[in-house]
Amino acid sequence: MGIRLENISKFYTSATNVTMALQKINLEFGNKGFVAITGESGSGKSTLIKVLSGMLSFEEGELYIDERPMSVCEESDWEEYRRGKIGFVFQEYNLIDEYTVLDNVESAIIIRGIRKENIIDYAKKMIEKVGLAGLENQRASKLSSGQKQRLAIARALAKEADIIIADEPTGNLDSENGQKIMELFGEIAKDKLVIMVTHNYPQAEPYVDRQIRLFDGKVVSDTGMTITEQSGSDAKGGNQETKKNKWSGVFLAWKYTLKNIVRQPMRLSFIALFVVITAVVSFFFLGQIVSHYDDTYTKDYDDDVFAYENDRRIVVKKSDDSVMTKEDYSFFATIDKVLEVETYDLCNDIRYYGIPGEDYYITYYEQSYWYMDEPVTVRSVSFSDEAEPKFMRSASCIRESDLKEGRLPKKRNEIVVYSDLTMEELDSFKVFFQNEDVWSSVFYEYDFEVVGVLKEKTTQIYYSEAFCDMLTASYKQGGVTLEGAWCTIDEQYKYRGILYPMIGENLTGQEMQLSAAYYPAYTRCAGLAHMHCISFDNEHSAANIYVDKLTVEGETEKLQYKDMYIGESNEELQAAFINISEDFFYELCDYGSHQASLYIEHYAYTDEVLEALKEAGYDGVSSYRISSVEYNTDKVENRIILLLTSFAILIVIALLEMFIVSSFLKLKRKFYSVFGFLGMEMGVLKKMNYFEVNLYTVVAVLLTVIFGLMGGLKELTVYFKPVHYMIYFLYNFALAQITVILFNRYLDKKVFRNKK
Ligand code: ADP
Repeated sequence: MGIRLENISKFYTSATNVTMALQKINLEFGNKGFVAITGESGSGKSTLIKVLSGMLSFEEGELYIDERPMSVCEESDWEEYRRGKIGFVFQEYNLIDEYTVLDNVESAIIIRGIRKENIIDYAKKMIEKVGLAGLENQRASKLSSGQKQRLAIARALAKEADIIIADEPTGNLDSENGQKIMELFGEIAKDKLVIMVTHNYPQAEPYVDRQIRLFDGKVVSDTGMTITEQSGSDAKGGNQETKKNKWSGVFLAWKYTLKNIVRQPMRLSFIALFVVITAVVSFFFLGQIVSHYDDTYTKDYDDDVFAYENDRRIVVKKSDDSVMTKEDYSFFATIDKVLEVETYDLCNDIRYYGIPGEDYYITYYEQSYWYMDEPVTVRSVSFSDEAEPKFMRSASCIRESDLKEGRLPKKRNEIVVYSDLTMEELDSFKVFFQNEDVWSSVFYEYDFEVVGVLKEKTTQIYYSEAFCDMLTASYKQGGVTLEGAWCTIDEQYKYRGILYPMIGENLTGQEMQLSAAYYPAYTRCAGLAHMHCISFDNEHSAANIYVDKLTVEGETEKLQYKDMYIGESNEELQAAFINISEDFFYELCDYGSHQASLYIEHYAYTDEVLEALKEAGYDGVSSYRISSVEYNTDKVENRIILLLTSFAILIVIALLEMFIVSSFLKLKRKFYSVFGFLGMEMGVLKKMNYFEVNLYTVVAVLLTVIFGLMGGLKELTVYFKPVHYMIYFLYNFALAQITVILFNRYLDKKVFRNKK
């Protein structure tokens, strides 16, 4: 065993000049003894020991270790050499300050891969040997200078290295402590080679066996023996072969990653904090992109077809346009994300006004007509545009369990509302209905009784299915033609018009009821010569009704009802409607609904629900989407700005993570160099960085996603499909890898081996 330097030269080249740090050095070392290297500052001492320990490459000559030329060696051989043969002691101790005394020594043993029954006991023995017994659990940073250097020596000893290389080990110590360290080295040098750089040769002199003096990169004197080898001692030392790590690299990397998290909480918190920030920010802005991918919201809503503007509404029909059955409704209710199934979907576009003085105002005024003797009192109803528009809902959307009192509505005049009052305290009230699409400007008026009170606060009134069915049937029928007011002179009907049939509750058979608006006019008509009519208010007046009834097959059936009986006029009925009996109504109009509306949890689920409907053979549309046609320039602009900003932020946060996280990693440069010279394989050190940053990333990403799903970012997570989570994960994962790759490159260049 031995080290031999043959004509070794080392230059440092910079842009402007070349320094010859070592010039043609020839030296030989045996396997024991205490060697002091002296010389002025700049004479090449440090360079020499760095070359000796394989931390620095050289330009010329050859280094033989055990007669093996090292210039042809791979980096891994150098690592083996550093790990197996050399223990370092530096002026600055190079301890891991956050670790305890025991941790520091134990790390050296573990990294060295020394097989011991009990590593801790062994480490304690080394600690005792250097006089630090009792301080095992003290943090290295809390030790005095002398104690630190002793610890550094304990660590070097624990490695069972053949050679201890010490670079001005007493430089920071007082003379008493320095003396003790020299003594310790003298002791150690009895069976190991100790090579020490010193400025204070007199202090070392009593203990050293040999002094090598350098000047200007050359050996100017070399006292004492060149070799201290004794025959047979070659085989000595517990480390003839460099043992492979008992701990596999991965295990070692994990062990120290976790140890560092515990021992270096500051470093953990900064790196983890920034990883978390990146995870949250990227989730948020990726979410912005995902949630604005659909541009429906940049278009203005056109309420021509669907007056009810609700982005959660899916309108569905059967592909053969037949009436929906119970089975259809129960199927709709099973579709994921569907909250409510509205059977009478056509009613959902009928607007209602139910609160006097807020939704509508009634005024009365006197009106005179030329054909009337006295002015009549006329009622005028006006609607407020300010109130939030309310649209009908049928009781098909609610359950008995939604009520805190009463029952679901059954009869046409029954409703369910939310109120602070009890049912007993609630009066019956009237509601006005407006359906511009069909009735244009007129309204339909109806009186209701509250039969149930909802638990949850809402302004929505739920109407009975019977009432909604009537409106739906009337809507589908689209009006009947009425001929009335027979003129006896011309022998023909003087009034002919399209009226919308509704059910008059007290009517039977073919009784009919018309708006009171007709009566004054036609009463007077009767007195005019050229319009000698039988007026509407005549008890015996008759009328004809013609109906183009739509059959289930989609054809029209022509029905005629002659000489029908017109009864009392109805004050509250608008001129566009005609009240008929229930039996007669359903003779003209069909029961049932051909179209349903599904109300889903969120607009984001639209495509998903449409897809499910399509698969089951239904035709579905998002009423909101198909009614949003024209782009709104402002909204389009805002969307583009938002998308671009989000992309930009994703890029910026990526750069910041790479920069900031690797900067925090760089703060611990010392840790890497210590682990490096303790002999931890570069690959394991690099793995540690991967483990650390990936561990934080995975935890941060998972926490963000969980927080998002739990409702913290609900508005975004609703838009996330598995593919988006995938992108999110990949983005953060890729960032973590790039950050670590960049940092590991830095380690390669700056920390591990100065190849220059
Ligand atoms: P010593 O340890 O005896 O003070 P060094 O081995 O540190 O001497 O330095 C020897 C010479 O090499 C000096 O002239 C020094 O300026 C130069 N030197 C040392 N390290 C570097 C380096 N990394 N880059 C350039 N020059 C260096």
